[in-house]
Amino acid sequence: MIMIKIENYINGELVPPNFGEYFDNSSPVDGQVYSQIPDSDATDIDNAVASAKESFKSWSKLSKKDRHDHIMRLADEIENHFEELVEAESKDNGKPEHLARSVDIPRASENFRFFATASLHFDSEVHEMDGKALNYTLRKPVGVVGCISPWNLPLYLLTWKIAPALAAGNTVVAKPSEITPMTAFLLSKICQKANFPKGVLNIVHGFGHKVGEALSKHLDVPIISFTGGTATGKKIASVAAPMFKKLSLELGGKNPNIIFADAEFDKSVEMAVKAAFSNQGQICLCGSRLFVQDSIYNNFREAFIEKTKLLIVGNPKDENSNLGAVVSEQHLDKILECIELAKSEGGKILTGGNRIILDAELSNGYYMEPTIIEGLSHACRTNQEEIFGPVVSIIPFKGEVEVIEMANATKYGLSASIFTKDISRAHRVAAEIDAGIVWVNTWMLRDLRIPFGGMKNSGVGREGGFKSLQFFTEPKNVCIKI
Ligand code: NDP
Repeated sequence: MIMIKIENYINGELVPPNFGEYFDNSSPVDGQVYSQIPDSDATDIDNAVASAKESFKSWSKLSKKDRHDHIMRLADEIENHFEELVEAESKDNGKPEHLARSVDIPRASENFRFFATASLHFDSEVHEMDGKALNYTLRKPVGVVGCISPWNLPLYLLTWKIAPALAAGNTVVAKPSEITPMTAFLLSKICQKANFPKGVLNIVHGFGHKVGEALSKHLDVPIISFTGGTATGKKIASVAAPMFKKLSLELGGKNPNIIFADAEFDKSVEMAVKAAFSNQGQICLCGSRLFVQDSIYNNFREAFIEKTKLLIVGNPKDENSNLGAVVSEQHLDKILECIELAKSEGGKILTGGNRIILDAELSNGYYMEPTIIEGLSHACRTNQEEIFGPVVSIIPFKGEVEVIEMANATKYGLSASIFTKDISRAHRVAAEIDAGIVWVNTWMLRDLRIPFGGMKNSGVGREGGFKSLQFFTEPKNVCIKI
């Protein structure tokens, strides 16, 4: 097997890390090492930031239309390399190829197209003062942006940050997750193919505590956009906040999925399965706490178990596989530990709970049964802490007041789903739930224009649409006396 050597992308060139050190990257699909990742350090970040700072002088002065045209070429090249990216994302992350083909990679090119176009429509505001004065608010790019992204939707979330940052006229130093670096590496090559201006986007690979931290505290990086775990977000905020950096944090979730007795039964069962187990339950928006009204609880539980048992955990290349591998051995162990914790808290495993060993060359991959747990209080650790795997806890409730109280009784506040035919109730509950995003009778229906982000420990700030362009620009008001 040819061992792929991933390189950093600095000033338009693919370069090794300064100290020449690499570490292994294995595929969760079969547990085999198949590539090497640069073990970069602060000196590589220094080089990337210097290159981004220099390129900012010209990139920030380009017309919106010129920036738009450059960014659109990246989207075109992603589409030209579509299948290569699909296979790479699946191999690196473990997700089914059909999921990468229908969600991750189309969204990566869509992110570039959407924000390149949005920047053309993004305008300054004017505030007129009864004929006495006129205020206009200029929005200027901030400078070198640090973009730090996680492993669950690698290229999707990386491009969700870098597309608006670039479209707004900033230059970028990105740090993808060290667990899934491959599609970011391919993106570097795509930039070269598209003749993307040198130094405008730089990508440095390596460990979070080394390069991520060096990027967060770099004096020439005034703005950080981070998506990842709440604990890491806290560390980044503790470094960046005293330096008064602009900070956007998209963090963890423990999202309630609430099924009222009058909900459309089959549809809500289907959506609950999707919300719990898509991407092996490794989406920050997954509905990991399933609240079901007591009058339909038994029927719903049986239908939910039956549908879950039909899910196929298998080879990510197979079109029939509903779930692939979870991202790493370490993560699989963490999920299994969470299941042991649930049992020790008195939880009953209704289905799943175990690792799966697939045949032949996939026998060392990290596969896991979709798991349903019942019988736990909403306040126990299992129902409070993010598991981030194919595990859902099912909890009965009597009425609206009780379920709102339970749904809100976590430190998180990212998303929620409500299933009911009663439109007044849908509005009432949506208004009371602590979550940045509430879906009614659906889950993960995304419009890129909406404000996206979480409350409480799920994040700070909102991205999406013009919110992203506002975050990635600095407003400056000019007041003219008439
Ligand atoms: P982590 O927080 O572990 O890592 C995210 C990124 O931060 C990685 O690139 C990581 O690098 C880097 N990092 C780690 N330590 C530091 C540090 N001290 N300073 C700077 N950067 C650092 O998250 P995961 O990758 O495990 O992703 C899963 C988490 O992300 C879940 O909690 C999930 O809910 C959340 N998430 C939130 C989303 C949202 O929109 N709210 C969307 C998707 C996921 P390395 O990998 O090298 O450690």
